[in-house]
Amino acid sequence: MIYCCLEHVELALDTVVDEYEVAPELIKLSEDQQLSTTCEYCEKKAVYIVAN
Ligand SMILES: [Zn+2]
Repeated sequence: MIYCCLEHVELALDTVVDEYEVAPELIKLSEDQQLSTTCEYCEKKAVYIVAN
């Protein structure tokens, strides 16, 4: 699973497809979860989870 901000959603999706060769599932975080989670690619708050 990859936590990512809006900017890095596409990058996260590509990463999951490349690494696991499955269609990723995009899950939107609740506001509480957004506050406590940061993007894996930058310092912003995560908005989505990309799951495989
Ligand atoms: Zn980011």
